[in-house]
Amino acid sequence: MAKVCIGIDLGGTFIKFALLDEEMSMRGSAQVPTPADAGPDSVIETMVSGAAELLDREGISAGNVVGVGIGSPGPLDLDAGVVIGMPNISGFVNIPLRDRIGDGLGIPAVLENDASVAALGEYLCGSGKGMDVMVMLTLGTGIGGGMVIAGRLARGAHGIGAEAGHMIVEPDGEPCPCGQRGCLERYASASALARYARRLIEQDRRKSSLADLLGRKGDLDAVDVNEARRAGDALAAEVWDRSIRYLAVGCVSIARLLDPDLIVLGGGLAKAGDDLLGPLRRHFSRLNWTIDEQKTALALASLGNDAGVVGAAGAAWKRFGNCAEH
Ligand SMILES: [Zn+2]
Repeated sequence: MAKVCIGIDLGGTFIKFALLDEEMSMRGSAQVPTPADAGPDSVIETMVSGAAELLDREGISAGNVVGVGIGSPGPLDLDAGVVIGMPNISGFVNIPLRDRIGDGLGIPAVLENDASVAALGEYLCGSGKGMDVMVMLTLGTGIGGGMVIAGRLARGAHGIGAEAGHMIVEPDGEPCPCGQRGCLERYASASALARYARRLIEQDRRKSSLADLLGRKGDLDAVDVNEARRAGDALAAEVWDRSIRYLAVGCVSIARLLDPDLIVLGGGLAKAGDDLLGPLRRHFSRLNWTIDEQKTALALASLGNDAGVVGAAGAAWKRFGNCAEH
């Protein structure tokens, strides 16, 4: 019987599960709503029982499970396997999640940051397959970052590396919940893009077809801005281009520092596809140095919402599998 690792991706809305065999092929998956209002104990019980049920359904005995990898929002203490805090699930403070899941299932467990496991998933099974150095940016409410160097997740000296969303791209710029100003995610996340459109309309009284929509919905999102842009709205085009230009600034800085084969774009904003990638590549080329040809490529993530759970299982293979190629 094939050996598998279990991946669990803990999100504020859903908990996802997947089994990954040694060939990095998915052998089954499941998803349940996160009982976020019921508190941490309930969430952990759901994670353990969901994983056990998936193994049961696929007819895989505990003896054939090499390990379980958990992707979680943070901040995390990676060495201790502890969730220090979690924005979307209240009460999740200083919870030894790695050991609670590992003990619950009777399987060795590893805990990683959610953005890191998404990067590892794309590296193992998605757009970054076959690459040596890959960085992933997840463009959602904020901007998550993950980097894989020579086949391994790189986390920095203190486990907080790859926080690409908090690279400062505008000194003294927009305030950020991290305590600084001008961070990339205040300009180039899906939320920041929509927020800027709203500000131009409400505060600066700029004309836009989005004003009607904003009045009806009470808010805007990045999809609204892109649709207005596609329909020829000048303000929407300006907002879209501004965010992508900042994103390109971040990508060029990453390229200079790490020289990756590839920067992968995922998260909600990446659903815009070529509407994101086209202008990003143009700004990236324009901002790249001219003393050498451009070597780092840009691509969209290919695993969609599965990247995290695949990467979580992959993290378990890397930690507990003996095979050198993991
Ligand atoms: Zn910040």
